[in-house]
Amino acid sequence: MSDRMPYLTSKLQGFGTTIFGEMSALALATNSVNLGQGFPDTDGPREVLDAAIEAINTGQNQYPPAIGVPSLREAIAEHQQRFYGLTFDPVTEVLVTAGSSEGLASALLALLDTGDEVITFEPMFDIYQACIAMAGGQVKAITLRPPTYGFDIDEVRAAITPRTKIILVNSPHNPTGKVFNREELQSIADIAIEHDLIVITDEVYEHLTFDGLEHIPLSTLPGMRERTLTASSGGKTFNTTGWKVGWLVGPAALVSAARTAKQYLTFVSSGPFQPAIAVGLRLPDQYFIEIAADLQAKRDRLCAGLTEAGFEVYLPQGTYFVTVDIRGLRPDGDGMAFCRELPKLCNVVAIPNQVFYTDQRRGQHLVRFAFSKRLEVLDEAVSRLKTLAS
Ligand code: GLN
Repeated sequence: MSDRMPYLTSKLQGFGTTIFGEMSALALATNSVNLGQGFPDTDGPREVLDAAIEAINTGQNQYPPAIGVPSLREAIAEHQQRFYGLTFDPVTEVLVTAGSSEGLASALLALLDTGDEVITFEPMFDIYQACIAMAGGQVKAITLRPPTYGFDIDEVRAAITPRTKIILVNSPHNPTGKVFNREELQSIADIAIEHDLIVITDEVYEHLTFDGLEHIPLSTLPGMRERTLTASSGGKTFNTTGWKVGWLVGPAALVSAARTAKQYLTFVSSGPFQPAIAVGLRLPDQYFIEIAADLQAKRDRLCAGLTEAGFEVYLPQGTYFVTVDIRGLRPDGDGMAFCRELPKLCNVVAIPNQVFYTDQRRGQHLVRFAFSKRLEVLDEAVSRLKTLAS
């Protein structure tokens, strides 16, 4: 946590500037290969891009309906049915948001009272902690431990108090690349049901899993659909992270609570991009198979290169991130210093995982690289990183 900032509410003290903003600015300033902030460097499918252009050219440029355009809400419901066998009503059980970030923020702001507790797993994507803080809630973090990023379900059980309201699960998981397996999910579901908790899931990397591993939405488990609010988006699946088209799906009572908060945040967003993401969600299965295969090849290329460069690599099962232990190259294991120096040393940018922990010491020696880049870009980054050891 950084120094106290003037004016800033006590709820947000310590949150400062996001690491993604800091590191992407550093990448630009030093002309580095940016493997920090996770975004692809190629465009998504032509049909999806053309659909956005068409929407702009045909006048779909004003406020969309508060809950999202009908074609997108219907496409989201069809997608949940097609991939997971889940049935949602596109009018009452689907809400379009400004990326899944706003979906998660709306859900947390809508569901938490001051002092309510949220159990989640760390390392965790930075917005969870900030949004829980803005909502007046408290984070109870369960640590995922390398190399497998497993956890002890008894720790989850022990973290439950009378104030526990929500379990927040991100799978496939940023930054570790862990894909929670059925047994792990079932153990979480059992606790949620036993203690009558709400579950929020962040599934934005749902189509980016490797080695044939299946992404299992928690709401497909018995007794979970009625208590689970799922956030996802089109950004990662269709290489359109800047469009900020996301959504929540879940039972009507949870979705309408989130909708109440959402209407006072952005109100609506991304008008012409919404019908375009609907086109993407309806693409044939082959598209979804190919993006995972393409990314798996990129994962393998970068992971092999990072190993050769001297890092200990924790092979991810999904997402577009890989975590490494830097101590082979930097014995003091100071990941923050390493990431701040890396652009000067060899013009590569990465993210220090310590920012994803409630106690930064737990992730101090871990660093995240994104592999959502063209192979030649990954190769260039690796050849630069290899100069570190010499
Ligand atoms: N989700 C992406 C990442 O983890 C981008 C995050 C952001 O810029 N807020 O890198």
